[in-house]
Parts: sequence; structure tokens; C-alpha cells
Amino acid sequence: MTIEGRHALVTGGGTGIGLAVARALAGHGAQVTITGRRQSVLDEAAGGNAGLHPAVMDVTDETSVAQAIAAAVATRGPVQICVPNAGVAEGRALHKTDTAFWRRIMGTNLDGTFWTIRESLASMRGADWGRVVAISSVAGVKGLKGAAAYSASKHGVVGLIRALSEDYLGTPFTFNAVCPGYVDTEIVARNIAMIRDRAGVSADEARAMMVGANRHDRLIAPEEVAAAVLWLCGPGSESVNGQAIEIAGGQF
Ligand code: NDP
Repeated sequence: MTIEGRHALVTGGGTGIGLAVARALAGHGAQVTITGRRQSVLDEAAGGNAGLHPAVMDVTDETSVAQAIAAAVATRGPVQICVPNAGVAEGRALHKTDTAFWRRIMGTNLDGTFWTIRESLASMRGADWGRVVAISSVAGVKGLKGAAAYSASKHGVVGLIRALSEDYLGTPFTFNAVCPGYVDTEIVARNIAMIRDRAGVSADEARAMMVGANRHDRLIAPEEVAAAVLWLCGPGSESVNGQAIEIAGGQF
């Protein structure tokens, strides 16, 4: 099975890891719906790439997810590759984690992933092939110090994927999660600014702390994560199912 001509959905597909994944899938012939909250960002991302199709969708809003996916399905057919990637990464100590913060992290990272997969799978029903590859994090397989809400949300993503892989065993669908360490995107740029301000260190020192957390002492390129997603959607990975694959330069 190839991905040529298949309809892929990548949430948060206008920036960072999502955009790299969308470009990789489109580069192999998929028609990719890219979603996010900002039309201008999506339009710019899709510019000049006939395989990328912007759709505004807020993953924290169930109705928005259902409507945007229904519209994409009406235009490009059932979603056969679903990549729930949209997420927010922010760490806070427990005593500073109020309910609003907890809900923002869980609403985006976990509710959003759940609704995206549910609506995509509804369109896939009866299809002879389907791939779900969620973007979790190393914080989805190990507790990340200072980021309890984020870690809980990303562990939740891994739990969802593992359970769905069991539910759909024996069908032509597979469910996997990729779990990157620190990837060179806006999220890392924002975290560097946050660490600098909170820890009173320079931006270079803050960046070095994040680089040092990856086992190979460098930031990961978004294209490295995209390559793993592409493999999980391409021929030869059919027997990989229910896995949480760390991309962190070593064991986290
Ligand atoms: P970005 O900030 O570039 O990407 C986040 C994307 O999510 C944006 O496109 C954003 O679009 C979208 N998004 C955020 N909130 C919402 C929302 N409510 N509704 C719809 N879309 C939303 O960072 P990354 O590319 O790094 O992050 C992508 C994923 O990778 C995240 O899930 C993150 O947790 C995960 N990850 C990142 C790592 C890193 O080091 N960079 C490491 C491990 C995992 P918009 O704002 O326009 O809505």
C-alpha cells in the first residue's frame, strides 16, 4: 500500500513538526488537510504546494473538529492518514497549576487528539487501509520534571493509541505514537524564553539546557520526526502497531 492519492489530516499542520509531516506526506503524493486556528499561517504554509489544503479548526472545540473534518472529507474523501499533532507545551509546578491551566493543556493535547481521531475514524469506517500516528512526546513515556500537566496529557495520548490498537486489532488500521525529545520549533523557542525568564539564565544557557536533555546533545529537526511518521504510513511498517516510538537521540 502506498500513500499516493490518500487523504491525510495533520492538525497543527501549519507550523513546526506538523508542517514537516504534511510536506513529507504531500511529497509522497498524499492530499493533506492541514489545520490550525490561524488561517493566515495555514495559507502561507500551503502556498506553492498543491498537496496541502488549509482548514481552520480549533482542537479544543468538539464542534469545530467535527465540522472541519466533515468538510475536508466531503472534499477529499475519508481521512486515511490521521496525524493528531496540535499541542501546547508549557511546564508549571503543581502549586501553580490552576484548573484553567490544566484544562488548556489537557483540552488541546488530549481532548483534541481524542476528537481528531474519533472523527477521522468515523470517516474511515469500511476503508481497506488506515493509519493513525499521534505526536506525543518523551513526556508521554516518562514524567517530565516541572511539567506534570503536559506529561499527563502526553501519557494520555500514548494510552489512547495503545488502547485503540487493541480495539482495532485484525483490521487494516494501525495506531502508533511518536515521542520526540526537544525538536527545533517555535515550542522550543518559547520554552527557551520561559526558562531564561524563570531561571534567570541567558538564552544561550537556556538553549543548552534543552539541547542537553536530548541524549545526542543536539536539537532534533522536525524533518526527523516527519521521517518516522512517513515510515509508519508507508509500506513495510504494517506490523508496527500500538507503539510509542521515542525520537530523542537515545533512551530518554
Ligand atoms: P508549534 O507551536 O509549531 O506547533 C503547535 C501547532 O499546534 C501549531 O500549528 C498550532 O497552530 C497548533 N495548535 C495549538 N493549539 C491549537 C488549538 N487549540 N487548535 C488547533 N491547533 C492548535 O510546535 P511543535 O511543532 O513543536 O509542536 C507540535 C507537537 O509536537 C505538539 O503536540 C508538541 O507537544 C509536540 N512535541 C514537540 C516537541 C518540541 O520539542 N518541539 C517535543 C515533543 C513533542 P495555531 O496556533 O495556529 O492554532
